[in-house]
Amino acid sequence: MKHLNIALDGPAGAGKSFLCREIAKHYGLIHVDTGALYRTIGLYVLRLGIDPKDTEKVISSLGSLKLGLEFSEEGQYVTLDGENVNGLIRTTQISEYASDVSKIPEVRAFLLDTQRNIAKEKSVIMDGRDIGTVILPDANVKIFLTARDEVRAQRRYDELIAKGIKTTYEQELNSIVSRDNNDRNRATAPAVPAEDAIILDNSDLDREGTLAAAIKIIDEKIGE
Ligand code: C5P
Repeated sequence: MKHLNIALDGPAGAGKSFLCREIAKHYGLIHVDTGALYRTIGLYVLRLGIDPKDTEKVISSLGSLKLGLEFSEEGQYVTLDGENVNGLIRTTQISEYASDVSKIPEVRAFLLDTQRNIAKEKSVIMDGRDIGTVILPDANVKIFLTARDEVRAQRRYDELIAKGIKTTYEQELNSIVSRDNNDRNRATAPAVPAEDAIILDNSDLDREGTLAAAIKIIDEKIGE
């Protein structure tokens, strides 16, 4: 198969991670989870004691940020000063920090080349919010995966509880709704579908149904 880039965007809790992992396996692609990069910057400013809404301070901290995007047999991991931080970036607090720092154009610019370079070098499925609109506007396939708020909150709640992270359904619903508003309404790279993206609403689909629908979309696009 020739070089293939798939852009998979959508709001929190739509099931992007699972879907991307399965699509990556199916087509032999690398899965790039770009949310992890914003989360790592969230963790970085948290560790420095910087308010993620303090744009000036966040921007000036970028000068000494050493962030790495690596791939192993188990998939992607992100490093901060050489430390693998994958296990530290999935909390609700880091989700909110990530959403705040991701509004800052300098933060987005800081991560741009990392994302574009990997897609140039390898066949990837890249998940995020602005992959189809900004990062990979020429992607072979663009899918915007979404679901109703309540469905996404329940999924996020179940996922966190399964990981042993303490939370409530209400907290996750509030967090998802406020994060969506943040992401959708920001001035730079708002989380909206690209004009040529195919919208896949999986509110009433299970994981297998979602995967089957996505494979159908991709196969039709790449003509297999
Ligand atoms: O996808 P995930 O929930 O891990 O992303 C965390 C946050 O990072 C999102 O709420 C969003 O604010 C930001 N993000 C972004 N652009 C991306 C990926 C994530 O702004 N491409």
